[in-house]
Amino acid sequence: MQAYEKKQRHILPSGIVQRLFACRVALHSGTASQPRKRGSYKRVNMLQFDNSYFRDLDGFYVAWSAARAPDPKLVVFNESLAKELGLNALSLSSREGVDILAGNVVASGAQPIAQAYAGHQFGSFSPQLGDGRALLLGEVVDEAGLRFDIQLKGSGPTPFSRNGDGRAALGPMLCEHLMCEAMHALGIPTTRSLAVVTTGEDVYRERALPGAVLTRVAASHIRVGTFQFFAARRDIEKVKRLADYSIARHYPHLTGGDSAYLEFFKAVADRQAQLIARWVLAGFVHGVMNTDNMTISGETIDYGPCAFIDTYDANAVFSSIDVGGRYAYGQQPLIAQWNLTRFAECLVPLVSPDSKEAASQLTNVISGFPALYQSYWLSGMRDKLGLFVHEEADLDLANALHAIMDGQGVDYTMLFRRMSDVVRGEESAVNSLFDSPEALGDWIGRYKQRQTAETVPAEARASAMDRVNPIYIPRNHLVEAALTTAVEAGDLSPFHKLQGVLSRPYDASGELREYAAGPPEGFGPYRTFCGT
Ligand code: AMP
Ligand code: MG
Repeated sequence: MQAYEKKQRHILPSGIVQRLFACRVALHSGTASQPRKRGSYKRVNMLQFDNSYFRDLDGFYVAWSAARAPDPKLVVFNESLAKELGLNALSLSSREGVDILAGNVVASGAQPIAQAYAGHQFGSFSPQLGDGRALLLGEVVDEAGLRFDIQLKGSGPTPFSRNGDGRAALGPMLCEHLMCEAMHALGIPTTRSLAVVTTGEDVYRERALPGAVLTRVAASHIRVGTFQFFAARRDIEKVKRLADYSIARHYPHLTGGDSAYLEFFKAVADRQAQLIARWVLAGFVHGVMNTDNMTISGETIDYGPCAFIDTYDANAVFSSIDVGGRYAYGQQPLIAQWNLTRFAECLVPLVSPDSKEAASQLTNVISGFPALYQSYWLSGMRDKLGLFVHEEADLDLANALHAIMDGQGVDYTMLFRRMSDVVRGEESAVNSLFDSPEALGDWIGRYKQRQTAETVPAEARASAMDRVNPIYIPRNHLVEAALTTAVEAGDLSPFHKLQGVLSRPYDASGELREYAAGPPEGFGPYRTFCGT
């Protein structure tokens, strides 16, 4: 049961409830039915939309409108992302732009929809989730020809809201903004955040909190759960349409191939293997890897109870609702494989008319996932350890380091950052991270021995390591302090300062020492709460 369901106070308007029928939403045709209108909408031309999902996937969404935000105010605007997307930053952050970002005004060309999806949440299947508090405004194509979804999150109830209020609170939206932009700066594929606006209305969780809307930018919002929605209804024709659309949008080189659907599955599995390896290498715990939170594009999505580990711990869990540790730090590759298996189940009828044959081909890909993941992880580990030459024993060397770290209270980020000192000939900084540094002694000896195989000079290797091992990550104590000051005191300066630091995670600066430090004495155990 989702935490928000227990906490929500808003009651869905009766007109919306009538659209729900025994847990099934009537999926309106985008062309045949117009979005519901709440009040009169002005259409403003600020983004150049080209809405392929709306156009091509009739029957996969409900055309809908945002709730009115009584007094929208811009809190954060991501100017560099706006520029990257070729959007007019000035007009988007103007009064009229803020009305668009709050959902009060529909930008010209936008066709707001709530997308249908299902999903396994903590292992149990919900045949209907869908955008319960989000609206896809449409898609924009940037100067490089890349297509992006522009989505409002927290913009009011939709036919998929079930018992939820369709809203979002300022803290979790600022948190998503901070985390996804930090992930982007670390080079990890992720949805982005263009802006956060407050609505001028409170939302009710344990207490009244300022309501907010985040504008999310994503390669797409197609999830494993989107396929599950139609597969669960045995609507193979729609599963096929969605697969064809996804291939054209994300894997166009596979279009029309002999075994396009199997290759599509392989490609998604490959992107997920890369993504999860990047998470683990960075010390990131997503926290809620439900199948509705796994994208087909391979981007990280839905920043709820996520966090970065401070001390290395394969069992690290930060989410208050993940009591069984299903989504613990070290579990993530296994869960990705589990989620991909659910995805494969949807694709069986597409892969071959002989379901046994299809299952066997898909199973082969799933069985290869651990090795695929490991190859990406090892490649990342070699980079982190400055090993340019590939040696057979590197996996064992990397595993041995993790075995030594276990239970030693070692700060994961600092350990790898300080490893370049070892390459430069200085070991004390790494040793000081261990409760009992003797454990590391043998390993350092082995590591130094291993470096004799390298041909690149030590200083060049050490500098390359400093470009892949961050010094600044969104540490829990920093995130919490910045969000508390922003929400409780209305002071965004620590938030902006932290964001600035996280935008350059590899560039050490003496003045920013406090941002590189571990949590203060007495901090934790840290618990995050579902991003409501
Ligand atoms: P999440 O846990 O954020 O991945 O969301 C899981 C499902 O719950 C999705 O269908 C969301 O749209 C829905 N949901 C989350 N929060 C709310 C809310 N406050 N109101 C309505 N639906 C919500
Ligand atoms: Mg989700």
